Amino acid sequence: MTARTPLLAGNWKMNLNFDQSTALVKAIAIGIRDFSGVEVLVAPPFTSLHVVRQAIGDSSIYLAAQNMHWEKDGAFTGEVSAQMLIEAGCSHVILGHSERRSLFKERDEMINYKVKSAVSAGLIPIVCVGETLEERENSWTFDVIRNQLSGSLKHFVDEKNLPVSTILAYEPVWAIGTGRTATPEQAQEVHVFIRNWLTETFGKNASDQIRILYGGSVKPDNIKALMSNPDIDGALVGGASLKPESFMGIIKF
Ligand code: PEP
Repeated sequence: MTARTPLLAGNWKMNLNFDQSTALVKAIAIGIRDFSGVEVLVAPPFTSLHVVRQAIGDSSIYLAAQNMHWEKDGAFTGEVSAQMLIEAGCSHVILGHSERRSLFKERDEMINYKVKSAVSAGLIPIVCVGETLEERENSWTFDVIRNQLSGSLKHFVDEKNLPVSTILAYEPVWAIGTGRTATPEQAQEVHVFIRNWLTETFGKNASDQIRILYGGSVKPDNIKALMSNPDIDGALVGGASLKPESFMGIIKF
């Protein structure tokens, strides 16, 4: 089996001004200077991408956007394309976050267009899936995850080929911003389900290499237990990525 490098990714959502963003990135850059074996990524709001790219300087921190449109350009008021994100210095883009799905009515079909467009432009997508509390309580978790995966990655399922740089994130909706984390066992169970789906759909070689992050109230005090599971390859962190102490505590799990 291929060793997968852990990725600790901070999703800043609609938070932090320019000064706060710069200070946070500089603190992370200093914190990871002599630290190896993990990848670190930050995803600021669109308007801060350029400033954060400059603050990253020659540090190894990766820069991601939190969303994008699938078209290259045109009359799409309020939207941003993959090419624009690359120009702003992004290497990654988060797609299909549960807040996009629930608040902005993004459907798997749209996410599929976005993933396809991101990959063809050269961005690495971080594709999010996850069930609601109601879905979990009705024992629908695996059906929901399977449908989200096959819908959000439809183009690649049809082609039977998904770039191994693609990153998936399992984020149970009931654990996002609630302080309620999935237990390491609950998370590992779904990660194994996703890994098996990857093997069935794209083969073992791809499945061995594709990273699956866990997200949902990850904190310095629960990251170690989560990361001790063989199929959890890192974390997508919201609230706890906004302060250097807590994000560094997670990075140095
Ligand atoms: C997220 O928004 O991706 C997330 C996991 O948020 P939090 O860590 O705050 O639960």
